[in-house]
This record gives sequence, structure tokens and C-alpha cells, in this order.
Amino acid sequence: MNELIIVGGGLAGSEAAWQAAQRGIKVKLFEMRPALPTGAHQTENLAELVCSNSLGSNLPDRASGVLKAELRRLGSLLLEIAEQTALPAGAALAVDRELFAQKVTERIAAHPNIELIRAEIAEIPTAPAVIASGPLTSAKLSQSIAQFSGQENLYFFDAISPIIAADSVNMEVAYRASRWDAGGDDEGDYINCPFHKKADYLAFVETLRSAERIKLHDFELIMEQGVTAGADHFFEGCLPVEIIAGRGEKALAYGPMRPVGLADPRVPRPPYAVVQLRQDNLAGNLYNMVGFQTNLTFPEQRRVLRTIPGLENAEFVRYGQMHRNTFIASPKLLRPTLQANSRDDLFFAGQIIGVEGYMGNIASGLLAGWNAARLLNSETPLELPRASMIGALCHYVTHAEMKDFQPMKANFGILPSLTGPNLRNKRERAADHAKNAGEALDFFLSQNEK
Ligand SMILES: Cc1cc2nc3c(=O)[nH]c(=O)nc-3n(C[C@H](O)[C@H](O)[C@H](O)COP(=O)(O)OP(=O)(O)OC[C@H]3O[C@@H](n4cnc5c(N)ncnc54)[C@H](O)[C@@H]3O)c2cc1C
Repeated sequence: MNELIIVGGGLAGSEAAWQAAQRGIKVKLFEMRPALPTGAHQTENLAELVCSNSLGSNLPDRASGVLKAELRRLGSLLLEIAEQTALPAGAALAVDRELFAQKVTERIAAHPNIELIRAEIAEIPTAPAVIASGPLTSAKLSQSIAQFSGQENLYFFDAISPIIAADSVNMEVAYRASRWDAGGDDEGDYINCPFHKKADYLAFVETLRSAERIKLHDFELIMEQGVTAGADHFFEGCLPVEIIAGRGEKALAYGPMRPVGLADPRVPRPPYAVVQLRQDNLAGNLYNMVGFQTNLTFPEQRRVLRTIPGLENAEFVRYGQMHRNTFIASPKLLRPTLQANSRDDLFFAGQIIGVEGYMGNIASGLLAGWNAARLLNSETPLELPRASMIGALCHYVTHAEMKDFQPMKANFGILPSLTGPNLRNKRERAADHAKNAGEALDFFLSQNEK
């Protein structure tokens, strides 16, 4: 009787499946890959990271660090595996993406309460279910969700960064350093490609602005049938570099190319701008371009990005790409328990509810799996405290003003305002938030089952 369907074996769906299964629920986890690809995933593994391999900061006074502390406290499977497959990345938690996804797949497939079924779910199930089909939800299911919700789904475009072969980077020009050397070894975990002269940086910006882009119209044509999208409707948190460059000549130098804390040890003056490369696999032979999502045509990426100092001969293992991002109108449709307003036994989790960021997606999957299990075990689903990062994220996506609703990642701005005396500077406020979040979750767990 206590059976749960989970749609989508991504970050949220895998975590949800594990949490429900651990609580004695029989889970049927449906993953449509490899029979039906998404266009972005490259393997048939569960929990594949499609772009960056970084799961954000590990520092306890950063929003992402707070989220990780909460997930650790709540027994997240995916965080446990991320920590087992971590790569050197300064203060961030970056993973070997293949090993991470492979281990998640093995653990999920081996769980006695989980049946992994490789098939598309075309319609919202009538039985108890968690929908965690992600930003690239299949066209058929998207239509079913639009019908169920009584609204049109919302769509916008996102973009991913290129990956470069490490041995093609000219290390006589590039140098190793972590920003402010936070947590890295002496050498630094990142490869940095410096623009020492402002004029060279401005020339690069100009080249980027005028480079040929993949026309949105062409892109729409290759999208799955039945999915529409608004032209130039980008998500602010993941803008293509050429769009940022178009907003002002210094926009990149204050954005993904900001040089602060990245002094070149060989040069007395700090660079004017820096392109950072982050290790992408355990072997250390692949690096991704940090914050360099792009929608330029592939030949143009090759031409333009090779004008970056140190990348003259860069070999692109993967080019940047555009992709669809689908999410529902959660403030109208969901409760903070992640149940649909109109159906107690239907849960949504992951990017599709408007939670942004890998860890946030894992967190929402954890809560949806936990609450679905509670419902099936005749217990009341839980609303996590708003002072915790997971509680705040779930509260935000279910209470935001609809007209401003955009996907949201973990950040201190969504937590309740601080009232204590410790308000002097940003760092102290962050530490206060982190402390409140930990205490709120501890208290909550002391009152409720884990
Ligand atoms: C190209 C791209 C790049 C991104 N880059 C980043 C990044 O760098 N950092 C970041 O934090 N976030 C990034 N995101 C957002 C990212 O997708 C999420 O953070 C995370 O993967 C979402 O987790 P999820 O579980 O909601 O969805 P996913 O991880 O995408 O999992 C959803 C799963 O559902 C499956 N599925 C879809 N429809 C069906 C169906 N009808 N039946 C059965 N299975 C189905 C899919 O195959 C997929 O495996 C990116 C997204 C995309 C698409």
C-alpha cells in the first residue's frame, strides 16, 4: 500500500527516493534517460550534474555552507556522496561529476525499497507521487503539468560554460590561485587567465559583443515539440557572458571576471580582469570556465575565447550551450511542505518548483521524500522552520509575489531579519544567520521525527 512514484532521477528525485525508501516506503523511481534524452545530460546515470561541477561554498558562514550543514544534519545521501567524490576547489565543494553520479546510481539501485524504472512518465500520476523532472521536463509531462496547474508553464533560457583540456592552457601566461587563497593550498586550486591591461580587456569585451550567436529562433526549432519560450527571456542568475558584456564595458570585470583576491604572483599590480578555470574531473585534465555560460556559435566560441590570455591554443572538450529551464508557478500551486494545494499526495521538488542551485535542489528533494513518506505513514507532513535555509527556500518559492517570481538559490536575504545586537558587518550578520539556522533546525528536530 505504501508505495510512492517519483518522476525523475536527477538530484531532487534521487534524494527524495532515498529519503522515502529509508522510511520504509516502496519507491518506484522513473527516469526517462537513456531512452529519452534531455539534450543536456550526457549519460544514463542518476544525479548527473549537467554544467558546473561545483556544489557551492563549504564555508559555514556562507548561505550554501549553511544549506550543506542542514543537509548533513538531515542525512542527505547526495551530500554524503559529494563529500566522498570531492575535488580540490578552495573553499567550495566541487566533485568528480562522473564518479558522483555513478555512486549515486549504485546506491539508489541497490536500495531494497527502490525500484529504478527507465521510462518516461507522460502524465501526472494519480497515485501518491513526487514530480522531480527538472528544468528539462519532457514535453508530454510538461503539458500534463500545465493542464493540472490550470496555468501555462513558465519557460526561460539558461546557458552552460565551456570545458577546456588542461594541457592546452598556456601556463606561462595563466597562473594558479584561489580567490583570497581561501582554503586552497599554496599553489591555488584555480587556473587564472589574466588581462593585465584594461585596453586588452576592453578589446575582448568588444569581440565578445560582436560575435555571432546562435539565433534563438534556430534554438527554438530544435526544442521538443509542444514547448514554447519567450525570446531573450534569460534567467538573471545564469546570463550568457555576451549578454553581460552587452550591459556595459565593465560589467564582466565586476562580474565573472572580477580580479579581487586573485593577484598574479609574478606581477606587482593586480590584473584588470581574470577568467577563472575550475577543475572539472578527478584526473585534473579538464577545467571549466567559471561563469562563462555562452550562446555563441561553436566556431565563434573557439575564435573569441582563444583571445583570452593563456587560452590561445585552448582545446574545447565541450562548448557552451543554451538550454530550456522549466518551472511551475509554485506560489500559486504549492505549500511549504511541497504538497500541491489541490492534492495532498502530490509533491513537487527540484528545479521545477523554482529552487535554483544543485544543493537547493537536493534539499527540496530531501523534504519532498521525507514528507511523502510521512503522509504514507499516516503522519502530518512537516514545514521546516523559516529560520533554517531549507525552510526559507521552501517558504520563498511558495509565498513569493507571483509577478516577481524567479527561481531562487540559497541566500541570507530569504531568512527572517536578524534582531540581535550582532549587526555590525556582513560577516557578523552571516555568522548570526548561520547560528540561528542551526539552532532553529536543532530545535525543530528535537520536536519532530527526523
Ligand atoms: C544545461 C543546464 C545547466 C545547468 N547548470 C547548472 C549549474 O551550473 N549549477 C546549478 O546549480 N544548476 C544548474 N542547472 C540547473 C540544474 O538543472 C539543477 O540545479 C539540477 O540539476 C536540478 O535538479 P533536478 O533534480 O530538479 O533536475 P535534474 O537533475 O535535471 O533531474 C531531472 C530528471 O528527470 C528526468 N525526467 C524529465 N522528464 C521526465 C519524465 N517525464 N519521466 C521520467 N523522467 C523524466 C530527466 O531525465 C532528469 O534526469 C543547470 C540546468 C541545465 C539544464
